[in-house]
Amino acid sequence: MNKHIALLAGDGIGPEITQGAVAVLQAVAARYGHTFTFEPLLIGGCAIDEAGEPLPAHTVKRCLASDSVLLGAVGGPKWDALPGDRRPEKGLLGIRKAMGLYANIRPARLWPALADASPLRRELTKNGIDLIVVRELTGGIYFGERGSCRDAETGESAWDTERYSEQEIVRITRIACELAQKRSGRIVSVDKANVLETSRLWRRTVHAYAQKYYPDVTVSDMLVDNCAMQIVRNPAQFDVLLTSNMFGDILSDEAAQVTGSIGMLASSSLGDTPCGLYEPIHGSAPDIAGRDLANPIATILAAAMMLRDAFGMAEECAAVERAVEATLSEGWRTADIFSAGMKRIGCREMARRIAQHI
Ligand code: NAD
Repeated sequence: MNKHIALLAGDGIGPEITQGAVAVLQAVAARYGHTFTFEPLLIGGCAIDEAGEPLPAHTVKRCLASDSVLLGAVGGPKWDALPGDRRPEKGLLGIRKAMGLYANIRPARLWPALADASPLRRELTKNGIDLIVVRELTGGIYFGERGSCRDAETGESAWDTERYSEQEIVRITRIACELAQKRSGRIVSVDKANVLETSRLWRRTVHAYAQKYYPDVTVSDMLVDNCAMQIVRNPAQFDVLLTSNMFGDILSDEAAQVTGSIGMLASSSLGDTPCGLYEPIHGSAPDIAGRDLANPIATILAAAMMLRDAFGMAEECAAVERAVEATLSEGWRTADIFSAGMKRIGCREMARRIAQHI
């Protein structure tokens, strides 16, 4: 297959980690007979420096024309004093909006070789952690009507409104069902249907849609408070978690934390077209930028998600994940995941070793 990938390296460690992911993707291309072309484009602080704005129109145009987008990270102290609408992060929000990305996919996986990195006791993680949070990204309480007022008797009041339409629920359910089909075929849909009207609509809509269009996928429901408890009590029970915007925001951070290391976690943002945005969950780490200290694995795993979810290359994705596991099993570690008895290497060497295992 021929695939054209928009490469948004961004700022800080962005260029180092995306270079690592490109090295691994090139190894995948060579091993499986694909051709991947990479088009470097500006976003974030480097775009402000070179083009005067965090998201140049050319970047948007070329991302929309690509098969998929791989992003490093944006931001850094150099641009911190700029006003809100000129800051690097504006580029990130802008590209998500321009590409119509309404689903945020965050896998949380505990790598056997890094089992000790989890803050959970061994007995709670002995069955592993390998779950994906599918979070609705552009609706719900974060985007509902809000306001505040003052009253002489009660003082100031403020309100935020949670509102979901069937259409918004259906489209995120479709993404969860498609992911579930590629995995265990099981979805746990998270809500607060014992209290919230939006959750009751959520529950009805998720079940009706999944039953009709994805009868091979099993959907069960869990109240959000129970789910928060179950993630630390028995994380192995989960595969795909389907959530609203706010519940997913909270649960995805909880799920990420139980796996231990920020340098290992990837994410994607998806919309109605196969062209998504794939990135690590961490930021631009200005404190270690340019020193070959960054862990490239989160970005390499984001590239693996891209292979599976954007290009339908499940075997190639699995090959990247096996290569990461093999490299970790040999004891190679970047500084952030280093522990006594392991072998310490830099960003470039970590990527090279993973690529070699493909
Ligand atoms: P950060 O994630 O960049 O860094 C937090 C800590 O984790 C730092 O100590 C850093 O060195 C370490 N770290 C992060 N990624 C690592 C990696 N791959 N390997 C090894 N260590 C790693 O968060 P921050 O310091 O709060 O933010 C720094 C900048 O990044 C800010 O400008 C922020 O706005 C931006 N940011 C961007 C994104 C994004 O582009 N998606 C996300 C979060 C933060």
